[in-house]
Amino acid sequence: MTLLHELMARIATSGPITVAEYMNTALLHPTLGYYSTRDPLGADGDFTTAPEISQMFGELIGLCLAQSWLDQGAPNPFTLAELGPGRGTLMADILRATSQVQGFHEAAQIVLVEASPVLKARQAETLAAYAPHWINMVADLPDLPLWLVANEFFDALPVRQFQRDGAGWRERCIWMTGDTLTFGLSPVGPQPALDHRLADTKDGDLVELNAPAQAITADIGARIADKGGAALFIDYGDWRSLGDTLQALRGHTPTDPLDAPGSADLTTHVDFEALTTAAKPAAFTRLTPQGVFLERLGITNRAQTLASAMAGPTLNTHVAAHRRLTHPDEMGNLFKVLGLYPADASPPPGLEP
Ligand code: SAH
Repeated sequence: MTLLHELMARIATSGPITVAEYMNTALLHPTLGYYSTRDPLGADGDFTTAPEISQMFGELIGLCLAQSWLDQGAPNPFTLAELGPGRGTLMADILRATSQVQGFHEAAQIVLVEASPVLKARQAETLAAYAPHWINMVADLPDLPLWLVANEFFDALPVRQFQRDGAGWRERCIWMTGDTLTFGLSPVGPQPALDHRLADTKDGDLVELNAPAQAITADIGARIADKGGAALFIDYGDWRSLGDTLQALRGHTPTDPLDAPGSADLTTHVDFEALTTAAKPAAFTRLTPQGVFLERLGITNRAQTLASAMAGPTLNTHVAAHRRLTHPDEMGNLFKVLGLYPADASPPPGLEP
């Protein structure tokens, strides 16, 4: 049975499904879901992420988190957490870069939130020296000060999509025509969670609601406000999203999101304003382009130091990686960084209140 057949059987029995239910099934179905069945990262996979492009990304994030930990009095013990750690590369770079920060490793309890068994196994290999601990939900994080990073995690969570119709909304759903899946719209109804979007949308506009991202951020924000810590959320998106941002990638090429569910990565753009609202009472930083953030943390110095020991093709790849992470025409502007921190502390380095 393919996931397409399973989804069609479900729609035939119970009617159209929401975009969120579709995303959740396509990405995380226990046996046929995209993340359940493969390691999607890297040149041979479907997409590449910043930590896979260069070690500099994780090194600078590590030093940023460690400085924030020092700024808040170096609490011991604390949780060092990552959401959706992929191959474990970012956490490995964070830990290597912070090995000289006195007391940091000794005080850190490393916790990874990961849904994919395939990637969990990969993380266990990469991070074997550090004895990390895995949990399924942020609600299960230890009750400790929390320093956390999430790179390209929120974009993988299921969103619901709504199209404005007068003062109400019609939910975008997935139906089938013959043996293909198609988008449709549910009947119009009120949608209290979108009342605030009546002011900045017009008839026919589409907005997205990422309820899991908001719930996860609320949990993290409450912990940071209560016990101390900081969070760095890095993702593509904008302050406030408008329009359909659902996209599918297979083999680094955009494809139809409804084609062959379970075989392509599905993402949406992150609506950072919604995360800041959820994060209260934690304070949040200005939304900062990734390129600006990495420059402020000293990526160019670090790139030059690494370059001095390189030559030939290795050097060319390194120069290209630096550009790819920071240049406004590449990932520098598309990706944004949002920091959370306690209202009575200073924001993590590289970010402003
Ligand atoms: N942060 C990594 C990987 C990004 S891909 C990097 O930058 O390279 C998205 C990651 O989130 C994967 O590890 C995926 O398995 C995980 N993931 C997706 N949905 C999840 C969910 N609902 N709960 C936990 N992990 C999830």
